[in-house]
Amino acid sequence: MAEVKAVSKDGIAVHTEAGDLPALHETIASLFAAQGNWERAYQHLRSALERDSLTASYNRRYLDRRLAQLADGEVAVAMVDIDLFKDVNDTFGHLVGDRVLRSVAALLKHELPRGAFCARYGGEEFVLVMPGLGVREALRVAERTRLRVARHAWQRLRSGLAVTVSIGLTTKPGRAEERLLEADALLYTAKHAGRNVVAYPDSENLRHIRHSG
Ligand code: GH3
Ligand code: MG
Ligand code: MG
Repeated sequence: MAEVKAVSKDGIAVHTEAGDLPALHETIASLFAAQGNWERAYQHLRSALERDSLTASYNRRYLDRRLAQLADGEVAVAMVDIDLFKDVNDTFGHLVGDRVLRSVAALLKHELPRGAFCARYGGEEFVLVMPGLGVREALRVAERTRLRVARHAWQRLRSGLAVTVSIGLTTKPGRAEERLLEADALLYTAKHAGRNVVAYPDSENLRHIRHSG
C-alpha cells in the first residue's frame, strides 16, 4: 500500500498506509501522548484497538463491547458469511481473497440504517448490528445487502470471480453471546438451504424458518 500524508481533525499531519485506519489512529495516539494529552491519546488508541486492520471494519472487541451495551434494547443481529470463500482463495490466491474481503466489508457498510454498524467477527464472517430494527425492517436491510454483494461486478477484479454471502438474522432478545449464537444457528440454516440466502425466524412462529432466495 502507498504511504499517504493525512491531516487529522485535530490538525496534526501524519503519515500512514492508505486505508490502514488502525495504524492512523495509532500514529495520532502517539502524537497526542508525546504532547502529554493522555485523554485524546487514549481515545485514538481505543479506536485503533477496535478496528480490523485488513478491512478497517470494527472488530470483535468493538462488537462485544457494543452488543453488551445494547443488551436490554431491541436489536437486530445479522451474521454474514462469505459463501465458499476457501474456493476463492484456492482459485484466485489469497491476495485476491483479501481484496474480496475488503470489498465485501465496504458493500456491507453501504446503506446501513442510522445507529447500525458492521464488525468483522473473524475470518470471512461479519456481523451487522442494527439497534431499534424489528424483523421486517432488518430483513429488508439483510436482503438488500445479500443482493448488493451478489450483483457486484466481481468479474472486474478477476475474470470468472463471483461472490455471494449467506446471512442468519435474529431479533430475539438476549445477552450478546445468545444473540450471536442464535444468528450463527440461522446462518447454518442459510448454508444448508443452498447459500446466497437470508434465514430468519418467521414473525408468527419463531421456530419456523423462511428463506429468501
Ligand atoms: P461456506 O460457504 O460453508 O462458508 O464455505 P467457506 O469456504 O467460506 O468456509 P470455510 O470455513 O471452509 O473457509 C473459510 C476460508 O476463509 C478459509 C480461510 O483461509 C479464509 N480466510 C479467513 N480469513 C481470511 C483472510 O483474512 N484472508 C483470506 N484471503 N482468506 C481468509
Ligand atoms: Mg465461515
Ligand atoms: Mg464462508
